[in-house]
Amino acid sequence: MSSQSSGTSITAAANRRVPFFDYPGLFAEHETEFMETIHDVLGRGAYIMQKDLTHFEEALARFIGVKHVLGVADGTIALTLALKLAGVGPGDEVILPSHTFIATAAAVNHCGATPVLCDCGPDHMIDVASAESLVTPRTKAIMPVQLNGRTCDMDAVAAFAEKHGLEIVEDSCQALGATYRGRVAGTFGVAGSFSFFPAKVLGCFGDGGAIIVDDDEKAEILRQYRDHGRDPVSGKVTRFGYNCRLDNVQAAVMLVKFQYYKRDLERRRDIARIYQDRLGAIDALLLPPAPDSDNLRYDIFQNYEIEAENRDALREHLAARGIGTIMQWGGHMIHQFEQLGLRSNAPYAEQMSARYMLLPMHHLLKDDDVHHICDSVIAFYRG
Ligand SMILES: *Cc1c(COP(=O)(O)O)cnc(C)c1O
Repeated sequence: MSSQSSGTSITAAANRRVPFFDYPGLFAEHETEFMETIHDVLGRGAYIMQKDLTHFEEALARFIGVKHVLGVADGTIALTLALKLAGVGPGDEVILPSHTFIATAAAVNHCGATPVLCDCGPDHMIDVASAESLVTPRTKAIMPVQLNGRTCDMDAVAAFAEKHGLEIVEDSCQALGATYRGRVAGTFGVAGSFSFFPAKVLGCFGDGGAIIVDDDEKAEILRQYRDHGRDPVSGKVTRFGYNCRLDNVQAAVMLVKFQYYKRDLERRRDIARIYQDRLGAIDALLLPPAPDSDNLRYDIFQNYEIEAENRDALREHLAARGIGTIMQWGGHMIHQFEQLGLRSNAPYAEQMSARYMLLPMHHLLKDDDVHHICDSVIAFYRG
């Protein structure tokens, strides 16, 4: 594989630009289909809860293998509604990993409950052993975060929840299509949540999300929550709800994208294989588990999150070669937001915050781009 990259002339490599993300490219890829679809939706005046939303929900339900999918405004409200379904309310505590998006904790706060932060392990997923010391009589639920498109050790999460009598509320926002022992992310807890923020593998042209559930009664409650508490048939208000519907035009756009979803996931896994082949032997790096390294999981590689010695210097070195990298959430773990004053037990996450970063990962990357990244990383550690 390195022969492929050494064939690239030095100037070509110097001029190569690999931005971290490529939003214009993602639009251009299906531009004609997108514009036809948007034109059709707008021409029909079909803005709120129309057939495009229903079709998108049905397509997603078939893909996941779940009875009910409800499009909602974003992933954060999906998490909030899932917590409400689990009965989380004022006075309760909910355990979640400190290495996650603030939205996971904010959803707990929106229910009037208190987030309590545990640690992650070297695969960056929740480490339930670190949660033992955080359980109190008020603990109501645990939130495994299916981070970076990977699933947590769900056997360990289930055993922990069982032992302490807790509800499981998954944050599966990053993991649409990921599996653990053949079971799909989003189906392990009370309800599953997904985000269609533009940087997610299935991203829309703005904000979007979905909540999934098998239970008919819970689905009815969710339908009311997302539409001002109204019963969809009678229109009668049965509870105080929210306005958190998924826009019909966004659903139509995602129906277009969704046709290519499986292909796009496979491309991500191919890219992860190249990273593994070329960077796996570098001692200064900790890579995520390789796509074929464990037969318990299908990892969708929402992100390629590594740990690196001399991370900040590596990022500068890559930036000078036109390669964009980021640190998820600006390099912060939730327990580090002092103003939130949250209780935590997260020593691994604490030391990791100086070491972690994301390499570019999306289906439009060419093999040459990935080899340019690998060449540049290798050159950095060789000095
Ligand atoms: C994207 C994301 C969410 C939800 O984000 P929204 O922007 O509200 O859609 C929640 N948790 C995690 C881990 C995420 O990455």
